[in-house]
Amino acid sequence: MNQLEQARNQVLAQIQQACQQCQRDAAEVHLLAVSKTHPSEVLRAMYATGQRAFGENYLQEALDKIAALQDLEIEWHFIGHVQRNKTKHLAEHFAWVHGVDRLLIAERLSGQREATQPALNICIQVNIDGQDSKDGCTPEEVPELVRQISQLPHLRLRGLMVIPKPDNNAAFSDAKTLFDQVKTEHAHPQDWDTLSMGMSGDMAAAIAAGSTMVRVGTALFGARDYSNQN
Ligand SMILES: *Cc1c(COP(=O)(O)O)cnc(C)c1O
Repeated sequence: MNQLEQARNQVLAQIQQACQQCQRDAAEVHLLAVSKTHPSEVLRAMYATGQRAFGENYLQEALDKIAALQDLEIEWHFIGHVQRNKTKHLAEHFAWVHGVDRLLIAERLSGQREATQPALNICIQVNIDGQDSKDGCTPEEVPELVRQISQLPHLRLRGLMVIPKPDNNAAFSDAKTLFDQVKTEHAHPQDWDTLSMGMSGDMAAAIAAGSTMVRVGTALFGARDYSNQN
């Protein structure tokens, strides 16, 4: 067994254990492999272990990898900050965008998604614990955003994404409460099934609070070396 496979098995075991402890079905928690800064050959090797969903933060880096890995059936997730002048590339090349925090961005993504493609999966990013420097809408803005974004034709509004401050595990419960509350605002409530929260260091706490998608980089690929970025 190679190192990547070992790391992935370990993360899957951690997810399973966290689910057991709170009596959740491990099939409800999806693993998103966060591959920013890692070269496409590493993603290819991780794919060979069975991983299909990969998350990227930087658009140009992601587009290069998407081109290099065209022969694989990867589900690409964009988890970085969404700039309005970049929405066309996101609409064309990704299956999911997690960082939508205003209506204008969602409208552009919907308008730029080809009608021949499946609907683009969207999560609304919420600044759940009021951080100054963070992206994301306020919790108060979420109900109206759900109402409006869920009506856009080429999107499928799946849920919420949060990145709380380190060690603020209470924020995960706040996100779960908000997630449950706003479902009634959704035009297609059966689509509302994703709570994207938890990373390498706080997976178990996020799962205990109700995460359905953990975004894991370091625990799968090792530490990131930004000086290697091309
Ligand atoms: C980098 C990143 C992750 C992964 O973080 P790790 O601590 O390496 O697991 C998850 N989510 C987002 C939004 C990120 O930018």
